[in-house]
Amino acid sequence: MSGAPPAHADAATGAPDAESHAAHEPADAARHDVVIVGGGLAGLTLALQLKRRFADIDILVIERRAHPVPVAAHKVGESSVEIGAHYFAKVLGLEEHLKTAQLKKFGFRFFFSEGRRDIDQVTEIGASRYLAVPSYQIDRGIFENFLGAECARRGIRFVDGARVQTIDLAAGTSGEPHRTHYLRGGREHRVDSRWLVDAGGRAGLLKRKLGLAEANGHAAHAVWFRIQDRITLDDWVADPMWRASCEPPARWMSTNHLVGAGYWVWLIPLASGSHSVGIVADPALHPLESMDTFDKAMEWFRTYQPRLYDELDGKRDKLQDFAFFRRFSYGCKQVFSADRWALTGEAGLFLDPFYSPGSDFIAIGNTYITELIGRDRAGQHLGAHAQLYDQIYHSFYASTLALYEGQYPIFGDPGVLPVKVIWDYSYYWGVLSQLFFHGRLADLAALGALRGELMACQQLNVEMQRFLRAWSAVSDKRNPAVMLDQAALPWFRRLNASLNDELDDAQFRARIRASTALLRELAGEIVDRACGAHPGLDASALRRAIEAAAAGGPACSGFGDGPLLFEVPDAARNRSTARADSAAPDAAACASDADSLGTRLVA
Ligand SMILES: Cc1cc2nc3c(=O)[nH]c(=O)nc-3n(C[C@H](O)[C@H](O)[C@H](O)COP(=O)(O)OP(=O)(O)OC[C@H]3O[C@@H](n4cnc5c(N)ncnc54)[C@H](O)[C@@H]3O)c2cc1C
Repeated sequence: MSGAPPAHADAATGAPDAESHAAHEPADAARHDVVIVGGGLAGLTLALQLKRRFADIDILVIERRAHPVPVAAHKVGESSVEIGAHYFAKVLGLEEHLKTAQLKKFGFRFFFSEGRRDIDQVTEIGASRYLAVPSYQIDRGIFENFLGAECARRGIRFVDGARVQTIDLAAGTSGEPHRTHYLRGGREHRVDSRWLVDAGGRAGLLKRKLGLAEANGHAAHAVWFRIQDRITLDDWVADPMWRASCEPPARWMSTNHLVGAGYWVWLIPLASGSHSVGIVADPALHPLESMDTFDKAMEWFRTYQPRLYDELDGKRDKLQDFAFFRRFSYGCKQVFSADRWALTGEAGLFLDPFYSPGSDFIAIGNTYITELIGRDRAGQHLGAHAQLYDQIYHSFYASTLALYEGQYPIFGDPGVLPVKVIWDYSYYWGVLSQLFFHGRLADLAALGALRGELMACQQLNVEMQRFLRAWSAVSDKRNPAVMLDQAALPWFRRLNASLNDELDDAQFRARIRASTALLRELAGEIVDRACGAHPGLDASALRRAIEAAAAGGPACSGFGDGPLLFEVPDAARNRSTARADSAAPDAAACASDADSLGTRLVA
């Protein structure tokens, strides 16, 4: 096994109990406003969010592992996207740390490189420039050590090396505290709290206790490891023109996806100097047994991604860890309760890492929990809000799950996956990200006013995912040498930059209506393109969803004047860059989008 630590089925919970002692032991039966079980990403960020909002709140975070945790080979969840990055940087005020101690991510990038070594001769999707809204590659060890220290600095009690054993929930209306028992340094401790939040990850303490576990239909598995070196895939290509087609000429700073039918491989650079590598696959097409040790994974790379195999073969002695999850995706019946308990992060539900939504759902869940605790502190009733927030959170989960469930076969389709990526981003930036960035996530009045549009978008997405599946079943899967440059789509850049706008209530409603119109326009173009090439495709359900989304909305989105999709790449040409417009993007254009869009959209 090449000197790596042994594989285990649950990397997130497999650490031995630590025996270290914190300087400040909490007194037995101490009473806190909030006890958070688990000081990983979800628990520590929730503590910071609560403390930022309520300066006098008394929070105790109980974490099983001893700090500092190892850097690089700690946990997965290293690539952030816009919502998660915004949450860390702006909502929690951690921008300085992200900019100085983590890596700025050069967006997502996808290569249809199955069986190939010449990645400049295959279809690539990605941006040639940074877009306006930043995201980061997060070394989880560095981040969690920083978060733990930051909690202590901001007056949050954080005990590490402490294992929660049992939780006794108080009856809802009794006003009695919840009681948590934990073991630390061989001693038993007991703490009381008004709120109890389980952020203990896949251990799922509260979920098991309350019988909330719920399977979903998304069967996929993942294996991953860290290599103590950089994987600079720019060096895989000798052609200086290819390298220079990105600015900076550093594709390795992206979350790179090497894709094929039924799987994708991630390459994520970490600030510690290591590189994270993972394979995520549909077991029907690539069984876990074909990749569940480092040596098997290497053999798998030799067949499916040979250029990566070459790279890793020379770095076998730099392997830092290896782990896997057999089935990583699951639901949860309820995550927020008026009885003053909640689940956040993987203690609740988890979707799929393809678009890195893990940190997003932590951001969203923590924001709802903060709202509920705020209402409770203000003496307001929780019942209706807890129930509605739970429903809304689950509706985000359901619509995001639709992007992944049953969609893995499309990942090997160089014609359809790029269209799906553009659609999925438009849905994500146009709807969910707008709600989060513009602070309307918990605004029930705003959500109520936009209910029709939000449901229409959700329905459009469900029908679109079905349609993409059907299209991919008949598509020709040509793999021309082309870069599909997202930064060259002006409307796409503008949509991204629009997240930075300041919007009043009317402007926000206009924005969601514009997004609905954009999705409608995009869906229409996708139907035209797919049915133009395959007249036998049945687009009737999607067409009905497009019509329904048009009801009462603006005639056009205002995002773009010309076609929204990339032109169909010409397979006969040598390597080219496919664009919807003729002008190459420049950095100034990318930056100025941020200024121009607010007015265009709300006019
Ligand atoms: C294969 C894969 C790839 C992923 N990639 C990404 C990605 O690129 N980007 C992204 O945003 N997300 C990604 N995710 C999701 C991401 O990993 C999770 O969202 C995130 O790690 C969850 O954080 P958490 O705090 O809920 O859980 P954890 O980070 O697991 O934290 C839970 C904490 O609770 C502690 N604990 C457990 N039991 C107890 C106990 N009894 N007492 C005290 N403490 C306890 C643990 O020690 C741990 O520190 C990925 C997930 C998978 C499966």
